[in-house]
Amino acid sequence: MSEHDSTVGTASGEPSAETPLVWDHLAEVRGRLRQAEGLLFGTDFDGTLSPIEENPEAPEPTAENLRSLRTLQDHPQVRPAVISGRGLADLRERVGIEGVDYIGNHGLELGIDGQRETHADAASAEPKIAEICGTLGRQLDDIEGTVVENKGVTATIHYRMVDREQVETVREHVFEAVDELGDGEVEIHDGKESLELRPAADWDKGSAIAQLQEHVDGWQPVYIGDDTTDEAAFEAITPNGITVHVGDNHETAADYRVRSSAEAEVFIRWLVTDGLALLETVDDNVSAT
Ligand SMILES: [Mg+2]
Repeated sequence: MSEHDSTVGTASGEPSAETPLVWDHLAEVRGRLRQAEGLLFGTDFDGTLSPIEENPEAPEPTAENLRSLRTLQDHPQVRPAVISGRGLADLRERVGIEGVDYIGNHGLELGIDGQRETHADAASAEPKIAEICGTLGRQLDDIEGTVVENKGVTATIHYRMVDREQVETVREHVFEAVDELGDGEVEIHDGKESLELRPAADWDKGSAIAQLQEHVDGWQPVYIGDDTTDEAAFEAITPNGITVHVGDNHETAADYRVRSSAEAEVFIRWLVTDGLALLETVDDNVSAT
């Protein structure tokens, strides 16, 4: 993040700086792309490729984003990856483009080059997460709008549709259930209008994109996402990456932001059209491994 003279200080005394809109810094982005031999394009799914929907079962990528992803996938100097809190199978089905890397459950399930891999700690926490989901399903049954989604190695308890006065009750139930049944192997993470249950494994979206970087050494990483879990990915590719937060959170580790998923779509389209044209031309015999 660039240094600004701070006029507003946070409680911790940290200067708070505005995260600028990427539209005002396209010259910098262009400069980076001009020096790049290739592009590692990482993107979140919900709220980025797809608009946020009330119902977690509803989101689909927009037609424009699917077109953009296909063009990225077809380009020999681009490696596209979709990194999400959703389960790997769910994510793959929703996007449905062959050859894209899919990383589900915040990096716990990797589908790279068509191979599936699960983190070892994730497998052992799976039955505990199932038990917690079962208990919460019963306890939260009478709180309208709660969705308990067991994704196997992780789970999400959604409360976007819950009456505001009951949100705290839902959250308390989740913290109690994990405390009683998790045996220290299950962690709670704040999501967007949701709580995520995850194995206490040292993996996140940041480790996921770092692993992808090993496949395309020296390529320019780009990451775009709207969720708190995307912050780890921003941090992992800072300072070399092009990092774009979707939304109004100025506390983000990203260098730039766009205001909405609609603007994210425009930025991704810009990368596909203007951005790709800037990449260094390489010999025909150079390709991604
Ligand atoms: Mg998201």
